[in-house]
Amino acid sequence: MTSNRIVVLGTGGTIAGRGAPGADMGYVAGQIGVGELLAGIPELAGVPVATEQVAQIDSKDMAFGVWQALAARCAHWLAQADVAGIVITHGTDTLEETAWFLQRVLAPARPVVITCAMRPATALVPDGPQNLVDAFAVARHPGAQGVTAVCAGVVHGAAEVRKLHPYRLDAFGSGDAGPLAYVEAGRLRRLRAWPQGSAEAALLDRLARTREWPWVEIVTNQAGAGARTVDALVAAGVRGLVAAGTGNGSLNSEMEQALLRAMDRGVRVVRSTRCLDGEVIGQPGDRLPAHPLTPVKARVDLLLELLG
Ligand code: ASP
Repeated sequence: MTSNRIVVLGTGGTIAGRGAPGADMGYVAGQIGVGELLAGIPELAGVPVATEQVAQIDSKDMAFGVWQALAARCAHWLAQADVAGIVITHGTDTLEETAWFLQRVLAPARPVVITCAMRPATALVPDGPQNLVDAFAVARHPGAQGVTAVCAGVVHGAAEVRKLHPYRLDAFGSGDAGPLAYVEAGRLRRLRAWPQGSAEAALLDRLARTREWPWVEIVTNQAGAGARTVDALVAAGVRGLVAAGTGNGSLNSEMEQALLRAMDRGVRVVRSTRCLDGEVIGQPGDRLPAHPLTPVKARVDLLLELLG
């Protein structure tokens, strides 16, 4: 059987947003169905496609239940022999968290490509249709695999992708790792390897059965930071904390002491950085373990660890 079908899972976002005709601000995200988004794109006519509306939300409101549904639907479709890849339409605000969550849970051997838009579908010149065409190019590319994000002709890996700009069409970056590839006139110019990894088979099952997710928060080091936020969260029952440290994960002394106390009480704690590039370099003897990814992705890892 040839694998040439592309499955498009809709979750909402600006790409499905509707506003005053021609306007690119003041719209409502998550209004237009995924089938309608595709119907308006002649470049995609002729590609065998299946669509599903998994959610219809502004991704600032992304919820664990949507992640569970998305992981389950991706797993279902990836198990079909005729499916070449999956395209997910998503809001830009939490795209990087969903990308890392899906990479961790599925580590797919076929491509799962998340795309988005910075302008609503009703804008004078919407960017969603071109992003969808580019996402299809990645999803249909022979040998493509793993979870990637495509926006403004740039392909980012799930581990690196990060929203950098609140308005610009090319709103994402991959930090100092750089993009994974560019899509140029439908052709892929690849710079780095596809996201690799191995999915933990039991994780999907566990996810499907999870009703209550562990409580994990991010606490940021900043001028005047002390122990109060961490102490209050621990007293309220938090189960995991990501410390978004300054520089190489450095922490205000009082905050660090509070985090160590939290660890002694069984709270899982990791240390990431507020810096845009690079990763925390841990030192031998560090009591607060360094995490190489951004605070929001470190939080995804803690959530999955605590789910176990
Ligand atoms: N707030 C929107 C969302 O994340 C922004 C966007 O999609 O660009 O759904």
